[in-house]
Amino acid sequence: MSFATPRAHHVFRSLATIRAYRVFARLPLATVRAITVRAITVGLMLVVLPALSAPTSGLQAQQAIDEEYTALIREFTTEEFFSTPYVDHLPASETVPTPLDVLGHIVGAADVLSYPAEIYTYMRAVADASPRVQVHTIGRTEEGRELILVIVSSEENLRNLEVHKANTARLGDPRVTSEAEAASLISSTVPMYWATGAIHSPETGSPEMLMELVYRLAVEDTEFVRTIRDNVIFMATPVIEVDGRAKVVDLHMGARKDPDANLPTRPLYWGQYVAHDNNRDGMGLSLALSQAVVRTFLEYRPIVFHDLHESASHLYTSTGRGPYNAWIDPIVINEWNRLAYKEVEVMTALGVPGVYTHDFYDGWAPNYMMWVAHLHNGIGRFYETQGAGSGATRVIRTDVERQWHRPNTPLPEVVWSIRNNVNLQQSALMIALNEVANTREEFMSNFWRKSQRSVGKALAEGPAAYVFPADDRRPGQQATLLALFQQHGFEIHRADEDFEIEETEYGEGSYIVRMDQPFSRGADMLLDKQYYNPNDPRPYDDVGWTQGALYDVETVRVEDTAILDVPMTFQKDRIKAPGGVAGERSPRAYVINYNADNGLTSFAFAYPQLLIEAAEQGFTAEDRDFNAGSFIIRVDGAGGRIGIGADGANVLRATLAEAGRQYGFTAYGVDSAPDVSTHRIETPRVAVMHTWTTTQTEGWMRLGLDQYGVPFEYISVHDVRDEPNLRDRYDVILFGPSSANALSIIEGLQGDDPVPWQASEITPNIGRQASTDDMRGGLGLEGVLNLKTFVESGGVFVTLSSSASLPTHFGLARGVSIRRTPDLWARGGVFRAAISDEESPIVYGYGDDLGVYFNTAPVFRVVGDSIGGGQQSDEDLGGPTSTTSRRTGRGGVDDTDVIQGRRGDLGAAGVAAFEAEEEENGEEEESGSGSADHIRTVMRYADVEDLLISGGMRNGEILAGSPALLDVTLGDGHIVMFSFNPFWRSETLGSYGLVFNTIMHYRNLSAGGEPPLTDDE
Ligand SMILES: [Zn+2]
Repeated sequence: MSFATPRAHHVFRSLATIRAYRVFARLPLATVRAITVRAITVGLMLVVLPALSAPTSGLQAQQAIDEEYTALIREFTTEEFFSTPYVDHLPASETVPTPLDVLGHIVGAADVLSYPAEIYTYMRAVADASPRVQVHTIGRTEEGRELILVIVSSEENLRNLEVHKANTARLGDPRVTSEAEAASLISSTVPMYWATGAIHSPETGSPEMLMELVYRLAVEDTEFVRTIRDNVIFMATPVIEVDGRAKVVDLHMGARKDPDANLPTRPLYWGQYVAHDNNRDGMGLSLALSQAVVRTFLEYRPIVFHDLHESASHLYTSTGRGPYNAWIDPIVINEWNRLAYKEVEVMTALGVPGVYTHDFYDGWAPNYMMWVAHLHNGIGRFYETQGAGSGATRVIRTDVERQWHRPNTPLPEVVWSIRNNVNLQQSALMIALNEVANTREEFMSNFWRKSQRSVGKALAEGPAAYVFPADDRRPGQQATLLALFQQHGFEIHRADEDFEIEETEYGEGSYIVRMDQPFSRGADMLLDKQYYNPNDPRPYDDVGWTQGALYDVETVRVEDTAILDVPMTFQKDRIKAPGGVAGERSPRAYVINYNADNGLTSFAFAYPQLLIEAAEQGFTAEDRDFNAGSFIIRVDGAGGRIGIGADGANVLRATLAEAGRQYGFTAYGVDSAPDVSTHRIETPRVAVMHTWTTTQTEGWMRLGLDQYGVPFEYISVHDVRDEPNLRDRYDVILFGPSSANALSIIEGLQGDDPVPWQASEITPNIGRQASTDDMRGGLGLEGVLNLKTFVESGGVFVTLSSSASLPTHFGLARGVSIRRTPDLWARGGVFRAAISDEESPIVYGYGDDLGVYFNTAPVFRVVGDSIGGGQQSDEDLGGPTSTTSRRTGRGGVDDTDVIQGRRGDLGAAGVAAFEAEEEENGEEEESGSGSADHIRTVMRYADVEDLLISGGMRNGEILAGSPALLDVTLGDGHIVMFSFNPFWRSETLGSYGLVFNTIMHYRNLSAGGEPPLTDDE
């Protein structure tokens, strides 16, 4: 659309405007003028005077206001106290179109939500009309929609945008910047502040708000806004979860287009894979939106990254309650408070009820999207504004009582509108932007200091580095984790020669993550161990996440700073596991060591025509040890399949050479195939079963399958209910985490009328992942019987974590039950599970044990099994390895905590000198002190002493030794049940292989002979 001629009646000139504004503000003209004058002289002071709770930013009396738009703002604001002088009007512009001009309604009009495409149209219209606004594409979603970045600042700042980007980067790397240069950069560099809207799709107000804010920042001529424009480069991404936004607008606007339509009230799917968890991808970076955010963040290096959420009454601005993450610089905590206090103070002074801080959220796990800032010396923050919901005006009720951090309680009952939501978040954000603008050198100086302290970390608090040894058993996993770190912007080096450090020898080619780099804190945060005390405030999310353990990759924390002098080379290119062919030139067979690297599964599925056998025992060939499960490809058999005629052997060799490079493995040519029993690697027909009630957590499994090229058919519980011959269609059915209540899986969604989830004229964006004309009803008892028949006739049914409720409740997994464990405290963290049946194909390629992600339940019991089932004794107040002996911090059970930004022995030299002197003076110091045989228990949780790797635990003996992974035979098939979640937020790549193994060996899960008898203890 073009806006060369803005509607004339929107534009007013000075006196008319003042008059209009006076009427609007119900203040005498003289007062408005007085305010104007005083505003110029005393600036912000004026704004916070409570007496001026109406139009203090009548500061803009010199500028025309858009009367029609302004009147509508008033109309849609339900109460005066849900507005502020920053947003109670809209300045007029002769050149820049308002949202009303482009969209036909103002921002925050009742009953209106905008599609991403409409929002983009508006943003581009503003960018076309204003030299102060730019729009950039920063990515594409899984469903192919665009992600954009809008930039607003003064013409001059935008002209120098590249300079400010480069300066910020320079300031962020004290290795190349002197103190003198930093001082000059601090005063000359304009900080960037990035706000993102609608990460959570049902939280609908922020994309609307950002349209108006962009206009306001580009157009308004008050000193307040000019200060922002001149001293901050504002970045906005109006919609982060673009696919989910399109679906939510479908549902809410569809219901308005056709009031008789039966539509779900909440979207079952948001993006392609996950819903609310879309901002818990901050470590794994596996969603398109996270990748776009990190890429853009590293390009621009904003000082603040700000997520706009909606849930609390009436506006919560984040600081959280702790225990705060133990790896970020303590300076950041002050910066959180600094900005939050400013917003709360000003909003409260303006008479807005219910604005507060220091509430829910702990600030512990670095998985939240805003942690992109904390991994890179920035400031991550968020709001929770009272929700805009469907856009309808409604009565809201709360029962929040006075608390120390909530002296200004929200109203118990009040009429709420989407415009109120827009007013509150827009006002607070402008206050924050103005604060950063006014004190920009302070923020830039902190940024410099934080970067300096990150580089100084190796020599101060430590550690000095992490080593990824060259001889890791899983080079593919190792490379994947290191490549992820590169995506985060962490620098990786590689040792040029063998070296010894802390009495351990490491080979040439070992990778080293130095802690004297600008992003050392981010890397340390992801690699270190966590210690969470259950007596500290209740955690908001996961409490442990150690990435080395969850990737099943060895990482060594090194404190000795001598490691920094090891000859090493910076790794510029994306790290990849090496691969190709080796050994005999004209072999009879190729052998590939199987180490459960996910790339080997990709390889098997990428070449289904290759006949690959799996060795059922380990063997030696070419002077190398090969694990059980290693691939054997006979040239005769496989070459004939892949090649043409006599050339088959050459084609096979070339194929393996290319695949080896792509998937990171080496195929060794051997004279004769090893003499071991084998069975075929299968690429079976896989189905993923979903419910119609929640698809949030199973989405991570679909993502993992897609990432590694394991094709599957996506079916619903209804398909299973209605198909008696499942075995004709599928070999393996995977059921991701769903519900711990088996009956709810059976019953599903209830209701009187059909609830469709499918595309229609009014809902074109839904029904893409899965589609039905009626979501009601669950698996039903028919579905249970169909699954039983499926397994009995040779199918394999796999359940992840909570979904074990289904086979245990309905007796499909005879002899297995789920224990009630109310005394176990084991929130989401990393636990050690040992391989207890190493013959099982499910654990081919794994070592003795593995770090798995477990969260509270389910804890299995197997009939006749005395291991596990440890009961908590009455006098036990936490158990020997409970994480209750110190406060929450870094490190495992046996480690000590570390305070960031200072040496661990700070002050110790002084004490020693003091004591030495005392001793010399002859003064004595006080000495201070401080079975069932159809069940294979494939993995068990470790003994309690070894159980917790990272996170927190109390009464761990309840979990210790209990079955972690069960393979239950039923008829000719198997039910495989995971108590832990092998597909969690793309953080658990080390355990994907357990599911992949189950798939590739589905026909031979009984390989390995008799199930071992359970040991009695
Ligand atoms: Zn949210």
